[in-house]
Amino acid sequence: MAMQSINPVNGKIIRTYKEDTQKALVQKIESAEKAWQRWRTTSYEKRAQHLLKAASLLRQQENELVKLMALEMGKPLKDGAAEIEKCALACEYYAKNGAAFLKDEVIKTDARKSFVTFQPIGVVLAVMPWNFPYWQCFRFIAPALMAGNVGLLKHASNVPGCALSIEQLLLKAGFPKGVFQTLLIGSKTVNKVIAHPLVKAVTLTGSTEAGMRVAEQAGALIKKTVLELGGSDPYVILEDADLEQAATVCAESRLINNGQSCIAAKRFIVVKKVEKEFVRLFKEKMSHKKLGDPLDAQTELGPMSRADLRDQLHRQVLENIKAGATCILGGAIPGFKGAHAFYTPTILTGIKKGMTGYEEELFGPVACVITARNEAHAIAIANDTVFGLGAAVFTKDIAKGERIAREALQAGSCFVNGLVKSDPRVPFGGIKQSGYGRELGSFGIKEFVNIKTVWR
Ligand code: NDP
Repeated sequence: MAMQSINPVNGKIIRTYKEDTQKALVQKIESAEKAWQRWRTTSYEKRAQHLLKAASLLRQQENELVKLMALEMGKPLKDGAAEIEKCALACEYYAKNGAAFLKDEVIKTDARKSFVTFQPIGVVLAVMPWNFPYWQCFRFIAPALMAGNVGLLKHASNVPGCALSIEQLLLKAGFPKGVFQTLLIGSKTVNKVIAHPLVKAVTLTGSTEAGMRVAEQAGALIKKTVLELGGSDPYVILEDADLEQAATVCAESRLINNGQSCIAAKRFIVVKKVEKEFVRLFKEKMSHKKLGDPLDAQTELGPMSRADLRDQLHRQVLENIKAGATCILGGAIPGFKGAHAFYTPTILTGIKKGMTGYEEELFGPVACVITARNEAHAIAIANDTVFGLGAAVFTKDIAKGERIAREALQAGSCFVNGLVKSDPRVPFGGIKQSGYGRELGSFGIKEFVNIKTVWR
């Protein structure tokens, strides 16, 4: 089977790649295990050196990597550059802090000595999505390799060029052959990799559906999984919010990566008293972005990553309108030439329980505004979802905001007056159907280790 990367600006094939054969796949898994037998005994200093080199190569190769993302999945150059810098920062962060996170922990018992040690588990499979083709991978790679594991990447089928460039970069950074490899396979072959006895665990970032399939199979084989899945993040705008600031952050968050981010703001839950003014400001901010070719430095919003995903989003928009929502901005496929994947920033108001915008994730530049009677009602709506990835609350009362973030909102990350984002220093992940386990921070690096007790 062949894999194709297709430019979402015009639908043209960029390159065709041959999928790995069954034999090549098994060879890669065995080579990973072989590499692990040596890699697990290397010092943290050595691993850190390679990560630091990877950070420097990411910066050196920025132009090339950013162009590849623009071509394969439509990310504008400026956003691509920020993504590459974030990957470099993650490499540096784990190079600097990884050893301390994994230091033995002595625990006083009746033993002469008892302690906990964090040992690598071996070959970990990473199934990754196309939306942040480098960041999603590096936030797995940096902690996992620092902990002494080795990685196999099954990247999304539309970004094989990005996938291969990561393997090449890490080899150039000095990681021994086999420590990190890219598998060129479609999703149907993932089960074969999970089933291989040498593969010890799986991490997946993607849709809830893909997470369910992977977890089902890994669970049957008692292999650990970390799942970072979809979200429909609520941004709660309270009566005492700074509306100008809230509208700015909300528009920025909704349009991150053209709306294709698991932690983009998706549902805007506004207390009735301030709804009219918030919507006016929000519309103003959502209307400003320049849509165009991601390779043009002036472009702020590129196309969506694939035309089929754009079509699915448009269907969801039409379903909302049919069910009674009002479209006050966008809602249309622009009439550009060619088989493009562009979609205009869109705002739907009057979203109610039962409508697509209330119940499902809208993975593109479409904002769903929901009216709440008061603070309690707003929080109840925010939590009335199967998802639980991120959430934000806007209020001038910081203590109240912190209380709502801490106790009331059901999500893995809750922000006060700010945009939900991932950061190498703090754990990231969800609850409910947004997944389980954590990436990043001191918690993330311990997901794929044997937390071993030693007693003597
Ligand atoms: P998928 O979840 O289908 O793809 C993500 C990754 O999982 C890809 O590598 C994909 O491979 C793989 N995959 C898909 N199905 C399976 C399976 N059954 N077993 C093993 N691996 C699988 O995302 P899509 O690209 O189809 O996007 C659809 C929706 O997913 C979006 O609209 C959005 O809701 C959500 N999504 C969420 C992301 C997030 O950051 N949480 C990122 C991307 C998408 P392949 O490409 O070969 O199919």
